[in-house]
Amino acid sequence: MASHRLSRQQIVYRLDQSIPPAVEIDPGDTVYFETYDARTGSILSDDDLLDHPHPVGSNPATGPVFVRGAEPGDGLCVTIESIDLAESGFLAVKKGEGLLAHRADHFATRIVPVNDGVVHFGDLRFPANPMVGVIGTAPAGDGISTSFAGPHGGNMDNRFITQGSRVHLPVEVEGAGLGIGDIHAAMGDGEITFIGLEICAEVAARVDLVKGAGIRRPLVETDHHWVTTGEGDDLGDAARMAANEMVDLLQARLELSFEEAYMLMSAAVDVQICQCCEPGEFPVTTRAVVSRDLVP
Ligand code: CA
Ligand code: CA
Repeated sequence: MASHRLSRQQIVYRLDQSIPPAVEIDPGDTVYFETYDARTGSILSDDDLLDHPHPVGSNPATGPVFVRGAEPGDGLCVTIESIDLAESGFLAVKKGEGLLAHRADHFATRIVPVNDGVVHFGDLRFPANPMVGVIGTAPAGDGISTSFAGPHGGNMDNRFITQGSRVHLPVEVEGAGLGIGDIHAAMGDGEITFIGLEICAEVAARVDLVKGAGIRRPLVETDHHWVTTGEGDDLGDAARMAANEMVDLLQARLELSFEEAYMLMSAAVDVQICQCCEPGEFPVTTRAVVSRDLVP
């Protein structure tokens, strides 16, 4: 199996079938994605405030990757083999934005060193928890900004997408059009300021093709969990979407009736927030999580 490298210059701000591929690969190949932070490397000091729109766009993904043989109705299984972080990233507050917009009266930026898996926030230290914010394929029809999530994946901001995770994505267009970006050195559920610990990185991902997979939405698999996803303008709708996917998964894999699966969910499945920075203003993303001890 071959390996390929995409540089930080090969970025897109949309997952869009009309964008020419950055690379063509065979199923089973590994791609090294050099990813930019959410502000395309423009935040270099605490004086660089997020008080103006980025001239080219925000939240880039590296790609798109054209997978030979991938056709609508297939699925990709993307295994995150490693996430190597840059030496520092940034956190920020945007005036009047985020979950606590009513208290965010000032812009602020903090450059945050990350050394040997440890985040240095002033004198405070805590473990890095590297994760992939954006991973998705090109949707059928019009492209979608890498700021948004949908059935194609995209800006899911799901902490379970990390080293060792396998992300199953629908293929909606020929070649799939995979993109990966928006790596966080750490992010709390909710990403409440709108901004995780945004950082440049290099992500190694093996890309397998599952012919005729027929999956409609992203599904994340770790060594210990199955994770379904949801998104929407409303937190309740987004939670319902992730739960709806999970009840289908439980029914299919455990051969349960709807009522049995629904009861089991109420006892053994966690429905959680991924991103909830400005409910009502910006789409919410969610997940439902079940242990593989229960669902092999
Ligand atoms: Ca994000
Ligand atoms: Ca981000």
